[in-house]
Amino acid sequence: MQFSEFGLDARLLRAVEELSYTTPTPIQAEAIPAALSGRDVIAAAMTGSGKTAAFLLPVLHRILQAPKLGTRLLVLTPTRELCVQIHEACTALGRHAGISCAPIYGGVGMGPQETAIQRGVTVLVATPGRLLDHLSRPYGHPDRIDFLVVDEADRMLDMGFLPDVRKVLARLPKKRQTLFFSATLPPEVRGLSKEILTDAVAINVERKALPATGVSQAAFAVHGGAKNALLVALLNSNDVGSVIVFTRTKARCNRLADFLEAQGIPNVRIHGNRTQGQRSSAMADFKAAKVRVLCATDVVARGIDISALDHVVNYDVPHVPGDYIHRVGRTARAEAVGEALTFVSPEEEAELRAIEKAIGRKIERRPLPAFDFTPKPKRPAEPRKVDERALAQQRAARAGKKGSPEVTTWGRSDGGRHR
Ligand code: AMP
Repeated sequence: MQFSEFGLDARLLRAVEELSYTTPTPIQAEAIPAALSGRDVIAAAMTGSGKTAAFLLPVLHRILQAPKLGTRLLVLTPTRELCVQIHEACTALGRHAGISCAPIYGGVGMGPQETAIQRGVTVLVATPGRLLDHLSRPYGHPDRIDFLVVDEADRMLDMGFLPDVRKVLARLPKKRQTLFFSATLPPEVRGLSKEILTDAVAINVERKALPATGVSQAAFAVHGGAKNALLVALLNSNDVGSVIVFTRTKARCNRLADFLEAQGIPNVRIHGNRTQGQRSSAMADFKAAKVRVLCATDVVARGIDISALDHVVNYDVPHVPGDYIHRVGRTARAEAVGEALTFVSPEEEAELRAIEKAIGRKIERRPLPAFDFTPKPKRPAEPRKVDERALAQQRAARAGKKGSPEVTTWGRSDGGRHR
């Protein structure tokens, strides 16, 4: 299948070519014809599947077929980072067709966004809260919108945005085409989709949204107190290039980033307490390969689009299987290969099993590499109890898989030293 077979506007096809998209991804192959036919669509698709072009291309085509003044497409998305990425994709895809687009998100001034809304840019990509702020002002009349995209609806739910989404929907014209995307479809999300879609084409919804096929997934059983040392050992091995390390909380993200800094490993961090400026500069440094490690929490990390990423480390096991799928989706984007490594403490075993159930397969357990538990200690060594447990795990792992290639690949030759 080729992009030229969809019958898309030539100006859009030119942009597709310039972006070097050769073949449509599976979600594009299904969603583009469905949306071009004018029908509503519900699709289970995650970041990395090519879903942004899957909704933008058909809608931009339909807008070009029947041009009118004013804002025609509204894309609702949960995070600022996704908002920026979708805006970038829209600008790139619409560049030869004179499509104007503006991102609307919180944490920055209202002024330039107000100007864009008043100017009637063709496409608004917005987070729900900030959009509602604008809609409460006299200029906020979204009455020309013919197309609505709800992106990452499950993440909207997780972040508590569904009430805001409903308030926005109440302000939109009823006669419109709606495309609804979500990685997972929990009952609340299905409920919302039923309220807002009419006779929708369903894509992938009976199948589970699984991590991309190119991702290999593995887990290390490691005591919580030894996770830092394991991470340093992996980073010191030559196999790990750029890596995003996910932690469960902002505090853990800060502690880990500070620890890595103290070990002489340059890194950046993004989480909900960082300002927009800090997040943007962290992303820029990571994308420009100025630092190798990005420490992140889930809330802001969803939707990060970094093409050369080959490793994701789940420093903590995510509580929700959907978060695992999304985190792992950071690697192996659009058919590249990647590796997702999960650190599992004894307390987190049950959560890992829930994830295995959700993705319908076992995650390979790797023996711990031999590593030094006290890399350049800044403070006194970890409590003895912790070291002993971790050492016992190491021994057990080595006994279970003697001569395993991972030990030499990941580990350091001074392995298992224990002070
Ligand atoms: P998305 O799932 O929309 O976040 O897209 C994931 C990444 O894949 C982005 O970097 C896109 O630019 C890229 N991409 C989307 N469609 C294609 C395609 N057909 N071929 C190659 N890359 C693509």
